[in-house]
Amino acid sequence: MKAIQVCVFGAPDVMRLAELADPEPAAGQVLVRVEAAGVNPVDTYIRSGAYARKPPLPYTPGMDGAGVVERVGPGVTRRRAGERVYIAGSLSGTYAQRALCLESQVHPLPDLVSFAQGAAVFVPYATAYRALHHCARAVPGEAVLVHGASGGVGLAAVQLARAAGLTVLGTAGTDEGLALVTREGAHHALDHRSPDFPERLLERTAGRGPDVILEMLANVNLARDLELIAPRGRIVVIGSRGPIQIDPRAAMSKDATLIGMSLLNATAEELASVHSALVAGLENGTLRPIVRAELALAAAPAAHELVLQPGARGKIVLTPWGES
Ligand code: NAP
Repeated sequence: MKAIQVCVFGAPDVMRLAELADPEPAAGQVLVRVEAAGVNPVDTYIRSGAYARKPPLPYTPGMDGAGVVERVGPGVTRRRAGERVYIAGSLSGTYAQRALCLESQVHPLPDLVSFAQGAAVFVPYATAYRALHHCARAVPGEAVLVHGASGGVGLAAVQLARAAGLTVLGTAGTDEGLALVTREGAHHALDHRSPDFPERLLERTAGRGPDVILEMLANVNLARDLELIAPRGRIVVIGSRGPIQIDPRAAMSKDATLIGMSLLNATAEELASVHSALVAGLENGTLRPIVRAELALAAAPAAHELVLQPGARGKIVLTPWGES
């Protein structure tokens, strides 16, 4: 099978298209024919060698994907050959024509959801769900600021929060991003690059600020988030690309809570619960993953450049069997 292989950590072009042997599913494992693989910012951190958890070399990148179950190993009871699935982590990497997964890493993909959309489910939606519900414990009627709403996690958070009965404020840095955030369910879309962003946010929350902030770029925004959060509000740090100085007194004066969150810390029980919710949302149409671009597997280096550029508009996916 064709697969991307990384033999040394470094710049995007360390990802090379290789011919590898097809994996064989052992007991409890499932082999998936990958029709689309999702590209996440974390894939770029791992590939560069900068991420705390490094895979042994050589490795095939990718945690997200969707396709069809090709074969199941002995003892697998919940999945069967021919079933459409989305992949939530794998043993062999998803930037490949086939991926070997544990049975617990594959979940049914409803017919109304395309493979490209299925490749945009796991990391974005599980992260957004865990941040909104498990960490912030958002309650219907509260106001949530999705700070960075035009990307993979942000659009997932907008759809989840809207379906849960929250007042949703979402930010983007381009006109296209703002239109998309509105279309996907935000009651208010705000430009995070605009100098009057804090005033606009306070205007739209009757001067209180949001009860919950889901923060995609904490190293830029956290100090100001602490000024803007409502009394007893919760700020969940989802993304941060460096240090920042904050005034703890701002949190103190409001009984505000600052919560760090990594999807990798979710327990098996938490993940099982999250996937039940996500499959239900995909089935009933409240969750509609947004795909911005579909690129061939060989274009993985370009996809890693693109995913870190400003102007997000949903997910980038790789199509291992296609030429586009
Ligand atoms: P993405 O698709 O690249 O989206 C990035 C988002 O950040 C876009 O909406 C972008 O908007 C926005 N942004 C840019 N500048 C901003 C600013 N100054 N203030 C607020 N938002 C700003 O990335 P993603 O997949 O959604 O992931 C978002 C972050 O979360 C990344 O850092 C990622 O590594 C992290 N993450 C963490 C976990 C976890 O477990 N903690 C899981 C998944 C992702 P514009 O491009 O429109 O400006």
